[in-house]
Amino acid sequence: MSLLHSWGRVPDAPQRGHGCSWRSELPASVARVVADHRSTLPYGNGRSYGDSCLASSDQVLQMRGLDRLIEADWAGGVVQVEAGMTLAELLALAIPRGWFLPVTPGTQFATVGGAIGNDVHGKNHHRRGTFGNHLLSFGLLRHGEPVVECSPDDNAELFAATIGGLGLTGLICWAKVRLIPVRASQINTRTVRFGGLAEFFALSSTLDSQHEYAVAWVDCMASGAQRGRGVYIVGDHARYGSLEVGERRKLGVPFAPPVSLVNRYSLKPFNSLYWRAHPKVLTDGRSHYEPFFYPLDRILHWNRIYGRRGFQQYQCVVPESTSQDALSEVLSQVSAAGQGSFLAVLKRCGHLRSPGLLSFPMPGTSLALDFPQSTELGAQLFPRLDAIVREAGGRLYPAKDAHMSGADFRHAYPAWERVEALRDPTLMSRFWKRVIV
Ligand SMILES: Cc1cc2nc3c(=O)[nH]c(=O)nc-3n(C[C@H](O)[C@H](O)[C@H](O)COP(=O)(O)OP(=O)(O)OC[C@H]3O[C@@H](n4cnc5c(N)ncnc54)[C@H](O)[C@@H]3O)c2cc1C
Repeated sequence: MSLLHSWGRVPDAPQRGHGCSWRSELPASVARVVADHRSTLPYGNGRSYGDSCLASSDQVLQMRGLDRLIEADWAGGVVQVEAGMTLAELLALAIPRGWFLPVTPGTQFATVGGAIGNDVHGKNHHRRGTFGNHLLSFGLLRHGEPVVECSPDDNAELFAATIGGLGLTGLICWAKVRLIPVRASQINTRTVRFGGLAEFFALSSTLDSQHEYAVAWVDCMASGAQRGRGVYIVGDHARYGSLEVGERRKLGVPFAPPVSLVNRYSLKPFNSLYWRAHPKVLTDGRSHYEPFFYPLDRILHWNRIYGRRGFQQYQCVVPESTSQDALSEVLSQVSAAGQGSFLAVLKRCGHLRSPGLLSFPMPGTSLALDFPQSTELGAQLFPRLDAIVREAGGRLYPAKDAHMSGADFRHAYPAWERVEALRDPTLMSRFWKRVIV
């Protein structure tokens, strides 16, 4: 048994992982863990930042061993895979055959089960919605019951509750996903830096609809006239090129230093240099898909640079009508606090509704910021940011969260009661216990 953590390591709650290699063994594995510890939680690859992938019993069922391709229709672009397969493994099968993930988050090390559990979104949310929008069906195992197939037509309520259902409604054993066709694994990009949020919204209003992918980096240390400056990037799958899969050499951070290497002294000059390194006018480029979608995956264990105390990500989405004012206020609070990180991502979300009951995105704008863990975060900065997001009618992303109040969660996700009604009583996370129980 190995000890497991969430990506941000906050809270510091090491988990005992109970592995499983075969779908046929899953019912017995669950029964054993439940008999010994009363409750458990499926764990994909621990790429959630906070406590949503941590069991309240600290005993998780490791799904990663279930990583096989079950069936594929390479003519029609539909694959049935086990839930522990990572997105990287799925891409390695699909790309050479001319297919790509319809939606991908910023890490390819998430599993298919985890992508469903958080109903992940990516740089093309404005066009294709969330991962759940492309799910045809999945097999769900609930304690003491046979595996049931869930789809929009069969067991539809369980289907909706499980997409973004945070692993609480049962164990996803396999999933059937519809892929998108591609002719090359390269991405044609266009990049430009912007001077403030108003410029970002203008760029995004004109260009998002013309491109498959759109995202922006924002300099969260910039203040005054420079507040909200950043770099806007759009991209599309190239029409000509090779269908080569990325196996680029990965660098690694060997251990977590005692204190975070990310702090206000290192960040300010770094962010400034990074911003200046980007073009003033929209500039065309071409990128392999890995650095375009997964720049951070290049450095294995990059989360260790935040030191042994770990870090928290603050990701909110606010509705269109309040986006610019609310996010400007959020950035102003962050730069005034001298907190913040290199990783600060802005993304306009689209109108396509997810079938998931607890799906995070809404039509509006999402902002994600990383912070080294400190007591000030929970005591000072986060309460201020929460108040802004609440008043703007927005919400926080459970996949990234380690601090949201139960009242804020229940208000922002009113369908929580329907998920709770369908929760497998033997499954309980630290997150759910914090916000519901
Ligand atoms: C660098 C980086 C970038 C990211 N970028 C994005 C992004 O752009 N968009 C986005 O949406 N997210 C993003 N994320 C978050 C990440 O995609 C999600 O947290 C994802 O759910 C992690 O998948 P995982 O397999 O590691 O699952 P885990 O983190 O282990 O688990 C996630 C949830 O799914 C449940 N679960 C896992 N497997 C199963 C299963 N087989 N059956 C039922 N439930 C299951 C768990 O109980 C848990 O509630 C990013 C994370 C990182 C580290």
